[in-house]
Amino acid sequence: MSSPVPRHLNLVGGGWVDGDRRANTNPARPGETVSEYAQAGPETTRAAIAAARAAQPGWARRPVAERMALLDRIGTAVLARVDELAVLLAREEGKLLAEARGEVTRAGQTFRYYAHQLLQPAGEVYASIRENVHAEVRRRPLGVVGVVTPWNYPLAIPAWKVAPALAYGNTVVLKPAELVPASAGELARIIVDAGAPPGVFNLVFGAGRVVGEELLTSPDVDGVSFTGGVDTGAHVARQCLAHGNKRFQLEMGGKNPLVVLDDADLAVAVGCALDGSFFSTGQRCTASSRIIVQAGIHDRFVAALAAAADALRVGDPLDPASQLGPVVSPDQLARNLDYVRIGADEGARVVAGGTHDPDAGQFMRPTLFADARSDMRLAREEIFGPVSCVLRVEDLDEAVAVANDTAYGLSAGIVTTSLAAAERFKRDARAGIVTVNLPTAGTELHLPFGGTGASNHGPREQGTYARDFYTVPVTCYTGW
Ligand code: NAD
Repeated sequence: MSSPVPRHLNLVGGGWVDGDRRANTNPARPGETVSEYAQAGPETTRAAIAAARAAQPGWARRPVAERMALLDRIGTAVLARVDELAVLLAREEGKLLAEARGEVTRAGQTFRYYAHQLLQPAGEVYASIRENVHAEVRRRPLGVVGVVTPWNYPLAIPAWKVAPALAYGNTVVLKPAELVPASAGELARIIVDAGAPPGVFNLVFGAGRVVGEELLTSPDVDGVSFTGGVDTGAHVARQCLAHGNKRFQLEMGGKNPLVVLDDADLAVAVGCALDGSFFSTGQRCTASSRIIVQAGIHDRFVAALAAAADALRVGDPLDPASQLGPVVSPDQLARNLDYVRIGADEGARVVAGGTHDPDAGQFMRPTLFADARSDMRLAREEIFGPVSCVLRVEDLDEAVAVANDTAYGLSAGIVTTSLAAAERFKRDARAGIVTVNLPTAGTELHLPFGGTGASNHGPREQGTYARDFYTVPVTCYTGW
């Protein structure tokens, strides 16, 4: 007898609320239901916002030790269930089991990290230029925070928003992406079981234009932390400004360059490009989707990377032999294949992958183009799949110019053995994250994360920088 399909309900004010049920399917086995989840709709979302509003002042006044203890218990509970949650995550998103384990671990560690951040100084004292005046800056919570997340990190992104929000005394309404409700549903259960007071954390499932829209327009939401695509981000910004001038934080897409110079170690360069372009099926905002290669190493590099891409084993994420999982959804697969056609029509040359067997379902071969140019759509638009392209350049100056020839600016990498070239790239690359001899993807939880240009708006996420979004500085002058 097969085991029953897990069911995830909305969490509103500490109670589980049902709604129209939807099935969540496994991208590796499209006929297989991973879980069922209940759609929230406007009414349930408004109730979640009201619950968060009611709970917020009380939560902010709880002693720091209590908030720390809750976050620590949540982190510990996540870490105790790494194997089980990783299987769920791999089944609903298509990430390899090893990557999923890494993501779950990261989520648990993030809650623990913010528990301990609460012992850091909570403000600053300044000398006053007036006599008998005490001047200080305190931090108060932002209030009720709407958290809107994408599908590609179903647990880590909710964690790196929810953990600092709760730590600094805010209450939360989380709206996860429709494709990955189960991970968020499990996180909600963990938060409730860890003893979060009712209303402190709420979860609503459903479409962005219905459930997300309530968060953007509600007068009872003080700020929205959003990660997703650029067009959705622009809409979030417009709505937040129009509805109460809410604070908003946007982390969006990328078209991240990886520069390979003639002096690079070829194996390091191929390793960085292979990981950055294709691992996680290219479904990372920090993926390297433009590989900018100096002429002297170009042909050897392209041949070696194409061979390495062709050798990748694409298969079920639960099979330890797989090196690349499926594309997350039929829509995303269609988009990837569109860009393969666009690249070919624009005159770029396929050197790996490039065809799709309909019998392969959502499993797509990694595709690499050579002879791309910076003015091609292939090299300008975010694809968000296992599709990358190589652009040939003559020298470091041209490499930097091509790397910066983008509206985005999330991550940028260089592979070189020249200290001078590395330092120049760190100085001149227009991106929020710069890597040297490492893939453009792969960040650490205690360092700030975020981009420039079209990739970002608002304060950085993660590390100590997260406090800037989730708190409001209050400047206090006291005469005595
Ligand atoms: P998306 O923009 O389609 O959706 C993101 C979230 O916004 C989802 O929860 C969605 O339901 C919600 N949404 C959609 N319309 C809305 C509306 N009108 N109001 C409120 N919410 C709405 O993005 P996606 O397809 O889930 O994720 C892929 C994108 O996310 C890529 O562009 C990728 O680069 C980006 N991303 C960025 C980062 C980063 O930190 N910079 C990290 C991961 C993913």
